[in-house]
Amino acid sequence: MGLIAIDLDGTLINNEHKISQENIKAIKKAQELDYEVVIATGRAHFDVQQILEAVNLPLYTIGANGATVHSPSETVILTVPMKDEHVKKSIAWLEQENFYYEVFCEKGIYTPKNSQDILYQELEDSEKRVTDSEYAYMQQQLEKQLGQSGFVYMEDSKEVFEDNNEIYNILAYSLNTKKLQKGRDQFKRETEFTFVTSSTYNFELEHRNASKGNAVAHLAKVLDVNMEKTMAIGDSGNDVSMFKVVSDSFAMANASDDVKAEAKYITVSNDENGVAQAIYQFIETHKI
Ligand code: CA
Repeated sequence: MGLIAIDLDGTLINNEHKISQENIKAIKKAQELDYEVVIATGRAHFDVQQILEAVNLPLYTIGANGATVHSPSETVILTVPMKDEHVKKSIAWLEQENFYYEVFCEKGIYTPKNSQDILYQELEDSEKRVTDSEYAYMQQQLEKQLGQSGFVYMEDSKEVFEDNNEIYNILAYSLNTKKLQKGRDQFKRETEFTFVTSSTYNFELEHRNASKGNAVAHLAKVLDVNMEKTMAIGDSGNDVSMFKVVSDSFAMANASDDVKAEAKYITVSNDENGVAQAIYQFIETHKI
């Protein structure tokens, strides 16, 4: 048996927000050859499940950048929740700096009521400063961010701690470059978190033991897969931890240069079925 870990946004999903038939075919081919396939993403697991259900493709899922692992039938395999005190402290700073943020919990994606207004204001403010194509890109990214499923809108940030809700991930988002940089500088040095970025405009925090790479290694152990028979495909900073644990790592052509530098191979872009190409290359060289 082997294991194939695939990132979702910018990797399996193309720029029209679709999973192509070519990519689905390649995943099914790999499954026929006794490879297990896991989606490894920063998204919340219930959001991923909905995306996979829509194309009738039940798979293992690593959610919240490695803080959760679920089986295709949604059984919990692993959770690595954040400490409440760390969440409290981070949220307080983000609110003080007027950041849009989301808290990924067991029961939903918690965000302050009306916090979307912060993002729409930032979009409006940027209109004069950026080119038309940059503006269109920002708009598209914003739609994607706000189009996740499972939002819970809070009157008060204390609501995230109700009902012993496990907390997996905090995502902060800003279209204002200076503000975003200030947030990244504030948190990237903190030793109690794993700090990652998964898009141009965000940064994410989770328990320091949570990462996509740790989750892939954990799942491989549970499934009794030799790490020599593993591959990972991704396009962002939050994928690099997977590249470090698998045998064959693939960066997408649309990944940034620093992410490409961490991968063993480069595949074509998410608009050219880069996942399918990488899978075929991998199964050709690792016959099991
Ligand atoms: Ca990605």
